[in-house]
Amino acid sequence: RMYKRQMMCRRDIDVHNVPFLAIYEFLIPPEEEKLKQKQLVALLEKLVSKEWPTAKLFLYGSCANSFGVSKSDIDVCLAIEEADVDKSKVIMKLADILQSDNLQNVQALTRARVPIVKLMDPVTGISCDICINNLLAVVNTKLLRDYAHIDPRLRQLAFIIKHWAKSRGVNETYHGTLSSYAYVLMCIHYLQMRRPAILPCLQEMETTYSVTVDDVNCAYFDQVETLGDFGHHNRETIAQLVWGFFYYWAYGHDYANAVISVRTGSIISKREKDWTRRIGNDRHLICIEDPFETSHDLGRVVDKHSIKVLREEFERAAEIMQFDPNPCIKLFEPY
Ligand code: ATP
Ligand code: MG
Repeated sequence: RMYKRQMMCRRDIDVHNVPFLAIYEFLIPPEEEKLKQKQLVALLEKLVSKEWPTAKLFLYGSCANSFGVSKSDIDVCLAIEEADVDKSKVIMKLADILQSDNLQNVQALTRARVPIVKLMDPVTGISCDICINNLLAVVNTKLLRDYAHIDPRLRQLAFIIKHWAKSRGVNETYHGTLSSYAYVLMCIHYLQMRRPAILPCLQEMETTYSVTVDDVNCAYFDQVETLGDFGHHNRETIAQLVWGFFYYWAYGHDYANAVISVRTGSIISKREKDWTRRIGNDRHLICIEDPFETSHDLGRVVDKHSIKVLREEFERAAEIMQFDPNPCIKLFEPY
């Protein structure tokens, strides 16, 4: 019976490609928004260079990894090449500088896990978070962007999954659900695991890009334009992939033993990583290995309550994809 159901679904589900692609197109930020972001970054560069002439500004997160939807805030990293910079001091100084230049709502959050300055630019209406020397985030942003260039289905899938997660309230790390970064890694991994594969594993290929940041060596194949049409042997459509993604996280994933790893393009075991026990606040109830900081589980924010919420949401989404004649409405219904 399962088999029949699945076959039916495979054939019928493609009618949903049109609405899914329409949602994707709708979420893409318009060019003018990109221009405004550039304008704001140029202003920040000007202000920063007065105080720190050799410092650099990098964009990271969704404004630079190609997974940003329209009206997102921008994430900026100020890189200062000094040994032992006191991040809190830099944050305070930076807030001072920005405050005196007409930027609005400038807030220095020096006590956050990652200290940042938050601000809003009244000219462009864009909000922005600035952190100091968080270069690993700049490098993982590049990895995500490079994956996005290999097959258009990654960006489509990730936009839809992020949109679902935001609509359903499961994209809130402070409530124990997953970050956007974690969801994008889940999408990359899912496409690496398709047969035929839709994405390769860039970290297992010849190294063409290598940097060492905070003692972590980040090396992978970044000449993605030479990969041609890597995923073309796999003809799965966006509707099939959305269905398969939710089906995997609802019924296919081995939560007790498995870790998803974009670094190896495979599933590895919790035992191998020593992630079988709760250590401190890390419960490892859903395990997503960071591609570079490999001791870092992006699922560590998930607790015994939020794991239930998450899994129920995956199951709900899988059910809707399976049985709802019009899944795009229910799937994104506000919670
Ligand atoms: P959104 O569109 O929701 O703003 P985002 O892509 O900006 O999504 P966030 O989860 O806000 O995603 O993270 C911003 C960036 O910070 C990520 O792209 C990543 O570079 C970095 N980052 C976030 N969380 C982690 C983490 N736990 N470990 C390492 N880097 C992280
Ligand atoms: Mg962001």
